[in-house]
Amino acid sequence: MIKLTQLIQCKHRRMITIYNTLTKTKEPLVPRNNKKIKMFVCGPTVYDYIHIGNARTFVFFDVVTKYLGSQGYEVDYIQNITDIDDKIINKANQENKPWKEVADFYFEEFKKDMVALGVTAPKYIRATDHIEEVKKQVKTLISKKHVYLIENDGWYFDLKTFPEYGKLSGRSAGMAEADDAVSRIDESDKKRNKGDFCVWKLANKSEIGFWEDEELGYGRPGWHIEDTAITEHYFGPQYDIHGGGQDLIFPHHEAEITQQESASGLKPFVKYWLHVAFLVNKDKKMSKSKSNFTTAHELLEKYPKEVLRFYLLSGHYRQPLEFSEKLLNQSAAAMQRIKEFLNKITLSEKEDKYENPITESINKTKDDFKIAMNDDFNTPRAIAEIFGLIRGINSLRGIKSLPQKASDEIIKFFDDIDAILGIIPTEQKEIPVEVQELVNKREKSREEKNYDEADKIRAQINDLGYEVEDTIYGPLVVKK
Ligand SMILES: [Zn+2]
Repeated sequence: MIKLTQLIQCKHRRMITIYNTLTKTKEPLVPRNNKKIKMFVCGPTVYDYIHIGNARTFVFFDVVTKYLGSQGYEVDYIQNITDIDDKIINKANQENKPWKEVADFYFEEFKKDMVALGVTAPKYIRATDHIEEVKKQVKTLISKKHVYLIENDGWYFDLKTFPEYGKLSGRSAGMAEADDAVSRIDESDKKRNKGDFCVWKLANKSEIGFWEDEELGYGRPGWHIEDTAITEHYFGPQYDIHGGGQDLIFPHHEAEITQQESASGLKPFVKYWLHVAFLVNKDKKMSKSKSNFTTAHELLEKYPKEVLRFYLLSGHYRQPLEFSEKLLNQSAAAMQRIKEFLNKITLSEKEDKYENPITESINKTKDDFKIAMNDDFNTPRAIAEIFGLIRGINSLRGIKSLPQKASDEIIKFFDDIDAILGIIPTEQKEIPVEVQELVNKREKSREEKNYDEADKIRAQINDLGYEVEDTIYGPLVVKK
């Protein structure tokens, strides 16, 4: 018979499982080298401020890194910065500036936005610092006859030489010829197969943003090869985790596999592929071209970082997340609940004469939080566990008085959570006691279904210059 303690230990030891786009299943996380994890995430092309949808990806992988760190893993995390590209050159021409100035400016802004979002910086690697590695990889592919030259155009990957093309995105065989395999930027009627993509793009000597090479010609890296050149340099030909937005699965990540596995002959190039879903605006993907685009930079001016992180983590990363003011306000209300709760804990009278009834619920929440995070980083469930604890303790004894030990444990637990999710408010605009008391009184009336009374109290709150909006996390109180 299994003893209860064994069961509990078993629960504690539950492994981290992650959904792997490559195998389309949830798999236990077993890094190539014990507890050391090498992780690469596609970074931004620095020609503008980043979209809040990209911020979702970067905040998610920040949480992944911090959570894995809390579980004893050592994560070597790299992000590439695409600092040369047609978009950057176009912007530079529009603004009549050198392309490097544009790239430097938006790279700095990107870093500032990440800091403002509470993201711990990974190693940011600029593509232009690794042109030699790119050239080397292109030359390897040429020597292995995977790549061919189209004069005055570029070096292209011949997809007929890599029959597994399509294995990540699950697109069928024969796709080298399929129409949807045509990469957006690599159009040429001289390509051997429609889907062939460029690895080294050639240019006239009069054009800017290109590099000389005797064998390859005057040119610049294709869209996909900077990532594999960078990861081969820092991680070697095989590593643990590759992440990015869902829109990068095809053709970008498919092309990365094709290049690296062809160059080294080693498989798999990456063990686990993780992809973050889109933010959607009324069921449509948010994107620049659809002009329903909001930058992280703009939102950071309106909302504290905790509210934005809470919002971004409130949906599972593989599910589309609606972008709406309603959900942002809901997140702001959740922040008020947490802050209010922690204030109550701090201010509660401390007593030691009672048995501690709270340790048990904290321990259970800790377990459940871990179980949720171990299950493919289920942040919405982890967050629900935290609110379960808040509700439980609030109802327990009104927490007017608490054993000192329990109070310390609660504060410590919220600190630990904050180190991973970054959603615990540090500063919150104080709501006057008078207003807070009315808000609480109104909540009580609502619970008792005394809606007339609740409306009257709402009017009193308005008279004091505040507004209340009801959300699933309780009321959001804002100054008018
Ligand atoms: Zn990439």
